Amino acid sequence: MSPGILVPCRRCGRQVDSSEVREALCLDCRVRAATADLRAEHGRLWRKRERYRAKGANADSIGRQIARLEDRMAQRIGDLVTDERAAREQLRRTLEEARESRYDIRNLR
Ligand SMILES: [Zn+2]
Repeated sequence: MSPGILVPCRRCGRQVDSSEVREALCLDCRVRAATADLRAEHGRLWRKRERYRAKGANADSIGRQIARLEDRMAQRIGDLVTDERAAREQLRRTLEEARESRYDIRNLR
């Protein structure tokens, strides 16, 4: 391992090892950018499922759509992050964030 040179990420400003930076973005920010559309869709489906459940309607098919979307997130992160453990960690955080932001919305009501 060569000694790390720290450079600031263009988006979040965090000082990160230069080996982790592509196009001036840290890994976290690249994952966020690469999954932005899927996370937005995840939010849309999640809220839709909440509405269905609130009405007592069957939300199974939406649940399957959410599962497929999460698979696509996993795939996209896997394409971006070569290290398997790092990819799993990024996926875990992305899903946690996507799911928790839904809870925030619900709790605001
Ligand atoms: Zn960053």
